Amino acid sequence: MQAEIISNGDELTSGKILDTNSQWLSIQLADIGITTLYHTTVGDDLEAMIGVLRTAVERTDLILWTGGLGPTADDLTRQAIAEGVGVPLEKNADSMRLIQEMFRRHGHKMPKTNEIQAFQPRGALPIHNPHGTAPGIDFTVQRQKPFKNGRLDFFRILAYPGVPAEMKEMWYDSGQKSIQEMLDQLTGQKRVLRFRTIHSFGLGESQVEAMLPDIINRKHDPKVGITANQATITLRIASEAVTEEECFKKIEPTATLIYQTLGDLIFGEGEDRLQEVVCRKLTVLGKTLAVIEAGTRGLLAEAIAGSKELPDCFAGGIVLPPKQPIDTDEMIRRGRRLFNVDYLLLIGAYPPGQPDRNRTEETLVAVVDARQTDLQKSVLVLQNYPYVGHPNIIDDLYVKRALNLLRKIISKNP
Ligand code: AMP
Ligand code: MG
Repeated sequence: MQAEIISNGDELTSGKILDTNSQWLSIQLADIGITTLYHTTVGDDLEAMIGVLRTAVERTDLILWTGGLGPTADDLTRQAIAEGVGVPLEKNADSMRLIQEMFRRHGHKMPKTNEIQAFQPRGALPIHNPHGTAPGIDFTVQRQKPFKNGRLDFFRILAYPGVPAEMKEMWYDSGQKSIQEMLDQLTGQKRVLRFRTIHSFGLGESQVEAMLPDIINRKHDPKVGITANQATITLRIASEAVTEEECFKKIEPTATLIYQTLGDLIFGEGEDRLQEVVCRKLTVLGKTLAVIEAGTRGLLAEAIAGSKELPDCFAGGIVLPPKQPIDTDEMIRRGRRLFNVDYLLLIGAYPPGQPDRNRTEETLVAVVDARQTDLQKSVLVLQNYPYVGHPNIIDDLYVKRALNLLRKIISKNP
């Protein structure tokens, strides 16, 4: 089954806000195994809205719609769906009661304008909206002329409010489950899809891929996808089975093989970023950290402070001029003077000018044992990385290099 997502609102087509709902919904659909074939955005214009709906039902069987369910004159989704399908709008008594109830709970009298939100295209079901007034629309329509070649003899439209928080809540509350049930019914079997994502840092996407040629192969079961995001290379193992337990059992041997092959290039899974992994380990070890950074201008400190693991291990940082060469020993001395910590993490100054592919100048990254009084012996690892990369990702690259060097050192601790 393939889907089209339609987002609606003048604020989207005028460029005032970005359509993040379509992105979010596409990810949700992919997670239950549905491919999104089209994203369409349409302004608050009834004719245009009817037009995009009719186009959508011609080319896909599942349409997720967001926006235009509010009570004001420019909220035309209800009308567009009714007219697009060719049925009248009818007042839904249950929805009416829920909307009135919602206003009562907030201590307001329901304005007359909100009555429109209780209207539904004939034959459609309202979707409960736990925290907003507008119910959604769930409308399954039998096709007059069934399609051949794999298309269904019905189409289904699910319309949600544009407010992202309401849309997401309604998706989790009912949307995800009801689409999953529809799929189970169509295939005649219950199935679940589960994923495991494994993150690595240190090699490029093609290098990682070359290490795992048999696994990252379209025919491999379970399927393994590879993606690169700001130098983090992620392997996503997707498995489909009848139960969740079975999914994870199918994933296990592939995950093991990935771990064996990539070794300590792997830093974490799921929601983990390097800063979470580093903070978690430091906390377990009862160790503390401070940073002294030049080129990255405070971004290393920001990354650690933003760790979802409580960054209690983080004592603070010193930010130095980004392009003024500074002696490593001097950086260590300054860090020691200000912080009483176990580790100092250093990023040196950047060379003048922009980074690019042909540059040979280097910027150092180092991990220092701050308890070691002998300056020479205190440097646990020091790497000079050439100032090479796209200007948009160079900072992120150095921040990750620094966190990764520290990760490797502390992960050797028991
Ligand atoms: P609506 O339900 O169309 O009245 O939308 C209400 C509000 O939700 C809009 O003013 C936007 O701030 C937000 N919104 C609507 N559609 C989207 C979308 N596709 N992506 C992100 N935010 C949206
Ligand atoms: Mg709107």
